[in-house]
Amino acid sequence: MKPLNADLHCHSTVSDGLLAPAEVVRRAHANGVELLALTDHDELGGLDEAREAACELGLRFADGVEVSISWGDDQTVHIVGLGVDATNPDLREGLAQVRSGRDSRAERMAAELDKVGIHGAYAGAMRYVGNPALISRAHFARFIVEQGHARDVKSVFDHWLAKGKPGYVNHVWASLEDALRWIRGAGGIAVIAHPGRYRLSQAQREAFYAAFRDLGGEGIEVISGAHSADDTQEFARVARRYGLLASRASDFHGPGESWIDLGRLADLPEDLTPVWSRL
Ligand code: AMP
Ligand code: MN
Ligand code: MN
Ligand code: MN
Repeated sequence: MKPLNADLHCHSTVSDGLLAPAEVVRRAHANGVELLALTDHDELGGLDEAREAACELGLRFADGVEVSISWGDDQTVHIVGLGVDATNPDLREGLAQVRSGRDSRAERMAAELDKVGIHGAYAGAMRYVGNPALISRAHFARFIVEQGHARDVKSVFDHWLAKGKPGYVNHVWASLEDALRWIRGAGGIAVIAHPGRYRLSQAQREAFYAAFRDLGGEGIEVISGAHSADDTQEFARVARRYGLLASRASDFHGPGESWIDLGRLADLPEDLTPVWSRL
């Protein structure tokens, strides 16, 4: 049987994507996606528009969100919630709380960037923001490229915005416990986003997977736009060892700015249970 073209992680202008929710849906459909989840950072505000557009096209759609959490020794990890009830009050309040720290963080980032000669970054990044409650490093990156300090968004992260670089500031996001409680409480399935992107030691990784599973986490992105073929093998093994469902996810942000386009992903290893068997 032909595997389903599912893409369960992407962004719109409601967080740091470049396309409006309905445009994301239309592009996914045009690319042959058969099941889509929109997973904006810490936000549910694009879901109504996306769901409606998907309905018009006859495209299967799941409500999603990508929650920013802090874990261990100041590590930022992202947890995707799939099939959440977007009207759930605890989830909504929890996400509002996570979002509320972003603006002061952005001001601290701008102050640090100012010290290294990148001036006016707060106002500059704001010009790229689609949702004032959701300013992200991606918006800063676009401004820094515009100013000619770097040739593309990726090199902005390498030079200024990644952990340890001059424009990076520590920030406390949600706890793993809270994120899982909100997602599960809203009837959703919690999935570890792009596990290949975290700089964790092997021991930290194992501790994280165990904590995630013990708190009711159920899935992991085995296929991710950010993963190499070796990563896929590694996270397939993690899914088997921890009994996790496997997800397939582009993490698309916009044309020309993402690792991979919507739905242009390898298939899951056949022995894994796809997370969409539960959606
Ligand atoms: P924030 O939630 O504000 O910390 O921003 C995180 C976002 O920055 C990610 O979701 C990506 O959109 C973007 N990002 C992080 N690292 C990179 C990178 N190395 N290259 C391009 N974009 C990145
Ligand atoms: Mn992003
Ligand atoms: Mn992420
Ligand atoms: Mn993402």
